[in-house]
Amino acid sequence: MDKVELLKNLSEQFGVSGFEGEVREWIRKAVGDFVDEMETDTLGNLITRINPGKDFVLMLDAHMDEIGFMISYVEENGFLRFAPIGGWDARVFPAQQVEVRSREGRMHRGVIGASPPHIQTAEEQKQALKTEDLFVDVGARSKEEITGLGIGPGSPGTLHYPFQLLGKGRAMGKALDDRVGCAVLVCCLEYFSRNRPDLTLVANFSVCEEVGLRGAKTAAYQIKPDVAIVVEGTVGADTPGIPGHKCPARLGSGPAVSVADKSIIVNPCMVAFIERVAEATKIPWQPKVPLTGGTDAGEIHIAGKGVLTGVISVPCRYIHSPSSVVDLGDFTHTLSLVIELIRRAREIA
Ligand SMILES: [Zn+2]
Repeated sequence: MDKVELLKNLSEQFGVSGFEGEVREWIRKAVGDFVDEMETDTLGNLITRINPGKDFVLMLDAHMDEIGFMISYVEENGFLRFAPIGGWDARVFPAQQVEVRSREGRMHRGVIGASPPHIQTAEEQKQALKTEDLFVDVGARSKEEITGLGIGPGSPGTLHYPFQLLGKGRAMGKALDDRVGCAVLVCCLEYFSRNRPDLTLVANFSVCEEVGLRGAKTAAYQIKPDVAIVVEGTVGADTPGIPGHKCPARLGSGPAVSVADKSIIVNPCMVAFIERVAEATKIPWQPKVPLTGGTDAGEIHIAGKGVLTGVISVPCRYIHSPSSVVDLGDFTHTLSLVIELIRRAREIA
C-alpha cells in the first residue's frame, strides 16, 4: 500500500466529530481484505479483528474524527452562523476555506468571512475576532437558497484543504490529527493479514475523540482488551520561539512516547516495554513532554477492570489548523514500532 496515497486519501475525507461516515466507509473498503471480522457499533466506531477468539486481545485505537463546526443559524441574506466542534483556536477561523455538508450528503464550498479591516476602528483591529463575529459564506443570496441546498441548523462543516507534499519527505494536510494514526492502523492490518499474530488483534477506528473521547469509551467496553495501544498525531512544536520545555514533540525525531498527559498516567511497565522494544529494534523515538494534551487512552485505560494502555504519536506541527505538517520518516518509524510492539505484546505482562 502506497503510504503517501493512503495519508492523502485519509486526510482529505470529511469527518467532523459525529459525522465520520465518509472516513469510515473509506477505511472499511481499504481494510476489507485484511481483517477476519468488521463491525460498526452504535456510536459509529469501526471495530476490525484479525484472529478473533484468542486468549490475548490487543486493541489498537486511532480516531477518525476531526475538528470542525456546525451551522447554528441561517441569516436572511444567506450567511451561515456556526458553532465550533472540538478544540479550536478561534483566531484561526477568519478567511479559511470550508465545506458544509447538506442533508443529502452533498458538499458545498465556502469561506469564513469577517468584517474587513478597512471598516474596523483602530480599537477593533487590536481585538482578536470572536467566533460570534464570523460567518460562513457559501455564495448564497438568501435563506431560501440555503434551504434549497439542504443546509440548515445542524449541518456539519469543516476546513477544506488538499493534502500536499512539502520539502524532502514531509507532508501537509487538514486532518492529519488523527488520520495519520488511522493510516498506521490500516498498514498494521495489512502487515498482520500476511504475518498472522499469536493473539487477537482488534483495530478500533473511533468516533468523537475531539469532543471528549466518546467513541473509545464504548469501544473498549465491548472489546475488553488485555493491552491497548493508542496511535495519535500529537503536538509538534519545534518551531521558532518555543523553548524545549514547552515543545511536546519534535518532527523528525521519531514516534513520541507518552509517560503522562491530561487523560492518563501511563503504567511505567508499559512505558518501559515500549522503550525496550524501540531500543532493541533500533527504531528512533522521543519522550513526549509530560502532561500536555489527552487522547483516547484516557477512556480505554479505565474501561472494565482497567487496561494496560500505551500511547504512541506521530509529531504533527500546527495541529488543529488547516495545514498540519508531519515528517513521513516519523510515520514510517511509528508504524515499525507499533508492529514490533504487537509482535512482542505477550512479553509485557
Ligand atoms: Zn487527535
